[in-house]
Amino acid sequence: MFTPSVHGFRVDKTMAAMSAQETDFGYSGFHTVADQLSEIGRDFYHRGWLYGTSGNLSAVLGSEPLRLAITATGVDKGRLSPSHMLEIDGNGEVIRGVLRPSSETLVHLAIVRNRHAGAVFHTHSVWSTVLSERYASREGIEIRNYEMLKGLENVRTHQHREWIPVLGNSQDMRTLSQEIGNVVRLQPLVHGIVLRGHGLYTWGSSIEDAKRHVEVLEFLLEVLGLTGLGSGGLQLDREKNVEDTAWQ
Ligand SMILES: [Zn+2]
Repeated sequence: MFTPSVHGFRVDKTMAAMSAQETDFGYSGFHTVADQLSEIGRDFYHRGWLYGTSGNLSAVLGSEPLRLAITATGVDKGRLSPSHMLEIDGNGEVIRGVLRPSSETLVHLAIVRNRHAGAVFHTHSVWSTVLSERYASREGIEIRNYEMLKGLENVRTHQHREWIPVLGNSQDMRTLSQEIGNVVRLQPLVHGIVLRGHGLYTWGSSIEDAKRHVEVLEFLLEVLGLTGLGSGGLQLDREKNVEDTAWQ
């Protein structure tokens, strides 16, 4: 069971004992989250990760029953505003808002359920698209020995192997969401997955964690793409004398 807080949406076991009524944040909770997500969406657009109407962002509003705030489909992310956010239930049905939800809503729900995520962010960046093709035959992208890895939850050293599964793309969202749900459940250490020729999904306990994971993974994918270093990344020998510094 997970219960996100109003402001941070951070999973907190001490809050798990709160009643379902206390987890219902009502209008103020929805609007706070809608403000946060639309600001992040505009920011990601300007960083090249959500061009056009691509990508989608969601955050959990309550767990019993499950409710999410999620971006509506077909919205220019450079102009994303709180009015473009919807509230949906655990079946993906809209319970607040007049627009249609993203076609990838089922994927968000699958990740929330299988990873107890508080927020799920999906980007369509150039580098996730390029690398998804380059590493499709390996069915994943391996990234090792970068300081930036320490920005991922529970990663304490740059001497870390991050595996980003690459899955085939599909327009059958029901099947795709089941496949993604299985992958993220069976590989509990992964912080994100990439759909081939499509983009990145990552998540976090909170909106802030999910945002940081997008920034870290997009940074690492860009480095990998620009340097041409494939699976294996930098050699450990080369890193032996590199002093480990605190994540900032
Ligand atoms: Zn997409």
